[in-house]
Amino acid sequence: MTIKRNTAELKVTPDVHEQGARVTSGHVTFWMNCVGVPMVLVADGELRARSGNAAAAQLFGHDIDDFAGLPLHRLVGREAETLVSRVWNRSINGFPSEPFLLRASIDGAERLLVVRVSRLDVDGELLRLFTFVEAPPTGAVTLAGWQENLLGLLNWMPFGLEIADLDDDIQFANSACLDLFGWTARDLATPEDWWRLAYPDPEYRAYARTRWETEIAAARAEDREMTPFDLDITRKDGTKRTIQFRHRKIGNFHVNMYLDFTRERAYASELKKLAETDELTAALNRRSFFKRASRTLASGGAEGLALLMIDIDRFKRINDRFGHGAGDQVLQLFVQRIGRCLPSSCLLARLGGEEFAVLVDKDNDCAVIAESIRASIAAHPFETAAGFLSVTTSIGVAPLEGAESIESALSRADRALYRAKQSGRNRVLHDKEA
Ligand code: GH3
Ligand code: MG
Ligand code: MG
Repeated sequence: MTIKRNTAELKVTPDVHEQGARVTSGHVTFWMNCVGVPMVLVADGELRARSGNAAAAQLFGHDIDDFAGLPLHRLVGREAETLVSRVWNRSINGFPSEPFLLRASIDGAERLLVVRVSRLDVDGELLRLFTFVEAPPTGAVTLAGWQENLLGLLNWMPFGLEIADLDDDIQFANSACLDLFGWTARDLATPEDWWRLAYPDPEYRAYARTRWETEIAAARAEDREMTPFDLDITRKDGTKRTIQFRHRKIGNFHVNMYLDFTRERAYASELKKLAETDELTAALNRRSFFKRASRTLASGGAEGLALLMIDIDRFKRINDRFGHGAGDQVLQLFVQRIGRCLPSSCLLARLGGEEFAVLVDKDNDCAVIAESIRASIAAHPFETAAGFLSVTTSIGVAPLEGAESIESALSRADRALYRAKQSGRNRVLHDKEA
């Protein structure tokens, strides 16, 4: 038996795979199995396989002996079979046709195959040899062309990127790392240099290092991406940046990513401040006061907590005599003076107009604090653009009781305040006295 390949002739010995009346040379089968590309041999004019090689058996999920007589639609689906029959005659002897894309259905799953067909003349019998190659995923070929540009791409990324080996020795750092931190490889001979330079405050350095090491250890133990977190780093020029740190293992590399969140974090804290504080005096606003006070109450219970209700005496007169601008200035100075009487653990809020509330926490004596506020306001006049203005204030005090809410204690403090006003102003009244 001979296979005519163009003009050259290959000698083959007959026999082995018999199907029906036809015989396919064992040598043809042997030769096809030497090739790692899936191949199926088909008799001319038939849409049935004559034989297939091992790679085809693997691709189509068939036993290699099943190919004999198998209709092509059983391999690639009805639609693909129709397409195959159309490209049947596109080849000349011994040369594969132009490749065409075949959307095949293999075991119910859709697969995109690149198919070529060659015409073979075996002992005077015309056969078709189909090769099937799985089409690469969309874009993969284009991406391969991009490999040489990858470095440019990584350097262009708007975030710092470091690629380290599994011992965490940095193998590559993109140029954004330099922009972000300002430190060069010369500044950072060892990792210790990084910790010392980027975190000059020893206390913050210890925090940053522990955070980094624990988060990385947890991610590696669970084989997942590290939970991202922010740290404030110091650049070489001494400026500070808030950086989000990301880390994950990709293949045999550890990849670190550094995102500059300085502006975003600053905006976020500015927005938070705007949402939580009163614009004129910078004291907490009503909403955030109740939120925070309720949180304090929920976490530590009512015992030792007290509420003060504070109102400026005869404030309307200040507005009337000296104008709204002077009134505003008094409100600002009033809050500053109260602030100096309060430990930082206490909350101060402007509830509205010239009314303020204080939550005194359990480490402080509410009566002492209330009196110190009253005394400091009355102690000396406020220096405003309209001149020195004498101001006094009245205060109602209500220690929280049992399971009482903040709102309820505040209304008791308000009643005490009302009594303080009635009994002459510039005084502190306890709700039990009121
Ligand atoms: P009392 O001693 O009884 O508290 O007298 P008062 O005049 O302080 O009482 P009242 O509550 O009647 O007056 C509060 C005034 O505060 C009325 C309002 O015009 C003024 N006010 C409220 N909000 C502002 C503000 O933001 N700026 C200024 N300048 N005045 C304000
Ligand atoms: Mg008032
Ligand atoms: Mg008032």
